[in-house]
Amino acid sequence: MSDVEKSAYRRDARRGIDDECLQSGLQKIQNRFGKGAMHYWAETADDGLRDRVKKSRMETLENLDVVLSMLADNIEAAGGHVYYARTAEDAVDYCRRVAVKNEVKSVVKGKSMTSAEIGLDAVLEAEGMEVTETDLGEFIIQLGEDRPSHIIAPCIHLDRQRIGRLFQEKLDIPCSEEPPELTQAARRALRKILLEADMGITGCNFAVAETGKISLVSNEGNIRMSTTMPRIHLALMGIERVAATMSDHQGMLQLLTRGAALQKLSTYVSFVGGPRQPGDPDGPEEFHLVMIDNGRSRILADEEFREVLACIRCGACLNICPVYGKIGGHAYNSPYPGPIGAVVSPLLFGINRYADLCKGESLCGACLDVCPVRIDLPRMLLALRRKLAYGDPAWQTTRHKWLEAMGFRLWRTLIASGPAYRLALRCAGLLQKPFISKSGMIKKMAGPASAWTRDRDLPPLASEPFSRRWKKKYSQAAKATSSEVDNG
Ligand code: SF4
Repeated sequence: MSDVEKSAYRRDARRGIDDECLQSGLQKIQNRFGKGAMHYWAETADDGLRDRVKKSRMETLENLDVVLSMLADNIEAAGGHVYYARTAEDAVDYCRRVAVKNEVKSVVKGKSMTSAEIGLDAVLEAEGMEVTETDLGEFIIQLGEDRPSHIIAPCIHLDRQRIGRLFQEKLDIPCSEEPPELTQAARRALRKILLEADMGITGCNFAVAETGKISLVSNEGNIRMSTTMPRIHLALMGIERVAATMSDHQGMLQLLTRGAALQKLSTYVSFVGGPRQPGDPDGPEEFHLVMIDNGRSRILADEEFREVLACIRCGACLNICPVYGKIGGHAYNSPYPGPIGAVVSPLLFGINRYADLCKGESLCGACLDVCPVRIDLPRMLLALRRKLAYGDPAWQTTRHKWLEAMGFRLWRTLIASGPAYRLALRCAGLLQKPFISKSGMIKKMAGPASAWTRDRDLPPLASEPFSRRWKKKYSQAAKATSSEVDNG
């Protein structure tokens, strides 16, 4: 069985559509942030910021080796350690070694999709360490042994009633549905863990090469504690998440907070990098930055897909996507859901394996309109589908479904030949007759075509094709005109 056949996309998408709580959460986030961002970009006088940031992102990507090397030099000059991990296994092994060497017992985490990408938690837990998420949403997900379903709102599929019951069970508090009470309970539980943690592991919104600092945006304050209170701070960074200069970073930050939550600026922006310096009131004894490649160099080398590395992970494309808005994030089975996930997951983890993701998107183009950095996801979705249709040894894609490919080849031949097309229409008109119900609609089709009528009725093919009706109408009109001329 191929990876494509094993995909859980359809099953999980159906589950998402049937989940009322998820549907309500998705509707709220899309109405507020998706429509809000569209409105914002449409109403705001374009000062060129989006284009400037896109340009600087692409320039940085084109000089990525130089920019990363400047970042590494500056971090090392400040006493930090930098490790370049070619693969996920490599990155996990480095983190494990740092933790074991420092006799870490308790790890606090924050803001790290890359840790999910490389599967870090299970390895640290297997070493006997206690790993705790400190972002409120991720903490709830961890308590429920659940999976995140949105890049910036990981528990959008849960309502406060469910969270209340979960807290009652796991934190041993009276059941409550009140957000302030629930937040206080999480805060009390996390504060104790944060005070005792040996190691903080965070992601990295961006790194700035010229200063040797990484930036982390948050609205909860947990990042400041996770990065400064434990003895060790280890930051995980995809190699593309770097800005060459502070000025580049400023534009990226502005677009990130706008795109993510329509904020001018998030509540906290932390710049960290390097261990505590003499005279610093706080900070870690050791700082490690792990630059993770894990397939990104291959994307970088391909001009067709390089642009996706300019993504600033704001999540705006999820908030507008009609497909994500129905199926939710779990169906993508990747740390990166939504339209960005439908492009980046196949590229990072295998195009054939994640074929359903890029085939499931609607190509409506809303993600391109809302993306603060104007990343052309629809173009790349089509490029991925092309690789699936025709195969591409460079990306190890095999032709996806030969029957489907044959079907489309036949279709191409038919529509390129007028007589063959008309004959096919006539045959289809006859074949559809037994399926037309009394209401005049096709309610059920046979074989693989039955998927089309599982959730909707189809109108039958017209008894007289449009081309013939047009010809008739045109010739009648022409006759009428010529008789008017004759009579006139
Ligand atoms: S593709 Fe654009 S909209 Fe989507 S997460 Fe990335 S930057 Fe945000």
